[in-house]
Amino acid sequence: MTNELEQLRQQLDGINEQLLDLINQRAEIAQEIGKVKNKQSINRFDPVRERKMLDELTGKNEGPFENSTIEHIFKEIFKASLELQEDDHRKALLVSRKKKPDNTVIDIKGEKVGDGNVHHVMGPCAVESYEQVKEVAQAVKNKGGKLLRGGAFKPRTSPYDFQGLGLEGLQILKKVADELDMAVVSEIVNPADIEKAADYLDVIQIGARNMQNFELLKAAGEGTKPVLLKRGMSATISEFLNAAEYIISKGNGNIILCERGIRTYEKATRNTLDISAVPILKQETHLPVMVDVTHSTGRRDLLLPAARAALAIGADGVMAEVHPDPAVALSDSAQQMDIPTFEQFMDELKSFSARTHGEPVL
Ligand code: PEP
Ligand code: MN
Repeated sequence: MTNELEQLRQQLDGINEQLLDLINQRAEIAQEIGKVKNKQSINRFDPVRERKMLDELTGKNEGPFENSTIEHIFKEIFKASLELQEDDHRKALLVSRKKKPDNTVIDIKGEKVGDGNVHHVMGPCAVESYEQVKEVAQAVKNKGGKLLRGGAFKPRTSPYDFQGLGLEGLQILKKVADELDMAVVSEIVNPADIEKAADYLDVIQIGARNMQNFELLKAAGEGTKPVLLKRGMSATISEFLNAAEYIISKGNGNIILCERGIRTYEKATRNTLDISAVPILKQETHLPVMVDVTHSTGRRDLLLPAARAALAIGADGVMAEVHPDPAVALSDSAQQMDIPTFEQFMDELKSFSARTHGEPVL
């Protein structure tokens, strides 16, 4: 009895080997076919041909397997062959770590975002006046910050809300940044403005509402300015990565990804901060990742804990909004920090990042 089982098993092992050999022979031929199709620019997947092969096989099938089982097994073989035909290089995104294992470090006027230290982006929601920007910028600078944010083109939910000062806003940002030796991060919403804006900006921000504005992404990719790309409010991580891919595929790999909360059913916060997106993005891409605590939480009382969470989970920096008098701010007045609150926020965050990122406690 044992002997009989042993014999049958040996037979099976032999057949397994033959199948293995045949499957690989088939794969080699499929690869050759792939090359021929490539030369002739023919689509690799040919459903008519697959159907014909399946019909021929089931027509010859004498069992004991049912036709449906035979179809199932062969469809898996066809699928594996098709995958083999696809060029691995084409499948891996340029933003992926598969393509580039080392971290991308972006030099913004000497501030090296992605180098393992934290680099924060701070400033008002919107540029309202020279005085307003200067006051905030001075406070940011006093706390060692270099990257100054401020919206000149504001993509507002309502067309009747303050839309930003436009070019004049960019001019104010540049003047203040030049005076204080800081770098400007500001949102551009129109592809036609990218070239002109390059004279005023150090980093082009592409906002959540424009994450899939493909013409804007392509225009930003054609330039050389670093891009801070925010996650769309209903975008999956895969969609976010593909948006970044639009930029890098045009030649500009200086991209900072920014998680800014996504829309969920939860109403306690303005958006839901998807904190696990940070390590996922860090693992899957070589790009720096920041967390915008202002727009994700929409709550002043959550800015510090959210920022701590961001650093603890591996973010390269935090974005937050600061206004000299938030109560009268023209946008996001509920969640911008006033200057004393900002100063305390930075002090607490610095002592925290000394623990998470090994920076000296100031
Ligand atoms: C902003 O940062 O100014 C902004 C509008 O944020 P988001 O695009 O993430 O809503
Ligand atoms: Mn805002």
